[in-house]
Amino acid sequence: MNVSIIGTGHVGLVTGACLAERGHRVLCVDSDEKKIRFLRAGRMPIYEPGLEALVRRVRKAGRLHFGGTNADAVAFGKVVFICVPTPPTPSGGADLSYVEGVSRDIARALEDYRLVVEKSTVPVRTGEHVRRVLAKYARKGAAFDVASNPEFLREGAAIEDTLHPDRIVLGVETRRAEMILRELYRPFRAPILVTDLKSAELIKHASNSFLALKISYINAIAEICERAGASVTEVARGMGLDRRIGPEFLRAGLGYGGSCFPKDVAAFEAISRELGYHFRLLREVRRINAEARDRFVRKVEEELWIVRGKTIAALGLSFKPDTDDVRESPAVDVVRRLAAKGARLRAYDPRAGEPARELLGGGVTICGSALEACTGADCALLLTEWEEFRRLDWARIRRVMAHPTVLDGRNALDPVRMRELGFTYRSVGRP
Ligand code: NAD
Repeated sequence: MNVSIIGTGHVGLVTGACLAERGHRVLCVDSDEKKIRFLRAGRMPIYEPGLEALVRRVRKAGRLHFGGTNADAVAFGKVVFICVPTPPTPSGGADLSYVEGVSRDIARALEDYRLVVEKSTVPVRTGEHVRRVLAKYARKGAAFDVASNPEFLREGAAIEDTLHPDRIVLGVETRRAEMILRELYRPFRAPILVTDLKSAELIKHASNSFLALKISYINAIAEICERAGASVTEVARGMGLDRRIGPEFLRAGLGYGGSCFPKDVAAFEAISRELGYHFRLLREVRRINAEARDRFVRKVEEELWIVRGKTIAALGLSFKPDTDDVRESPAVDVVRRLAAKGARLRAYDPRAGEPARELLGGGVTICGSALEACTGADCALLLTEWEEFRRLDWARIRRVMAHPTVLDGRNALDPVRMRELGFTYRSVGRP
């Protein structure tokens, strides 16, 4: 099937490449010409494990193409995916101007029937607006359907998640749209859930908010553990063995970040309010999440007493491991706050050094290795749980630090071993 992707970012690029891998012919377009030039030159604008090889393979097979206008995308694909950003507005709602703009572009280019699919994360009832925009700006009698196909991929495991999803949600309004999407996804051999459009939109917001809630829940438990002298690792293990709860998303630490959870929780709260329901639980989820970072910064201050003038090594800058995405990264936030307090920050991340440099400006030194970052440091902070940090030669790190203090914001290291190595070691919710 011919498929078009409008918005070739984290979601659009991965979706396009995976649809091509499953045998479809895919055209990916983007308003960012530099990104398209990059992709055409065989380079990846983002780091995602396995992406570069996959894109190379499906391009060589002639099934994935980059470039063109949004009108070209409409001419090419029977299915047109909208994968543009839905960033937060100052009041916490979702900024739908990209989705609206693209919908107008699609409308103006509509000739034959097209199935327009929202893949961007949008508040419930956005599909109705998209349908209205299409009807308003398209030529009279133009045939189209609107569907919702929310995306659940995790950055860092995006290819695996897209090729082998837990479920594929199809929110449709017509039998025709359902049949097209079923055919599109048949090669994925994944469980398919067909719903009405609004329920599909809600499934995405409800899922992300629930996952964020799980993280905040365990972070609240971590706080109680610290006060009581218990171990949140043990508590989480005991909880997670209950199949009704499950072990995922019960890792205490600095809380969630990234381009999705913070904005999706806020947007879900905003649309709920608009619908007349005050989702106070979500406000609490956000508050607990913010508190996790505050507490961590306070711990650094407790250890160093005066932060100004101290050298602090920051290990990890991406919002989670295996990605170079620094959007809303708790690690970047912590680094920024300590730099603002006058500390000298030396940061290292296996992949996110450059993207973070752009965000942080000149005040933070970006280092080429963990060892370099830790050399001469008064304390080291583990802010993103990259596997590389677990495997570090910590004995060697201890020798190069000015003072052997490690604050582990992700509970990534073994407290017993770290203390045996002679570190003053603190983590989150563990005695
Ligand atoms: P992104 O910023 O990486 O990519 C969006 C792309 O859209 C950019 O390349 C941008 O240049 C392009 N774009 C913007 N306006 C355009 C226009 N008018 N025409 C053509 N292209 C345009 O964003 P993303 O992370 O891929 O997220 C996209 C959507 O998917 C968001 O709604 C997000 O919430 C949702 N989502 C993201 C993830 C994730 O892990 N990143 C997971 C699930 C859902």
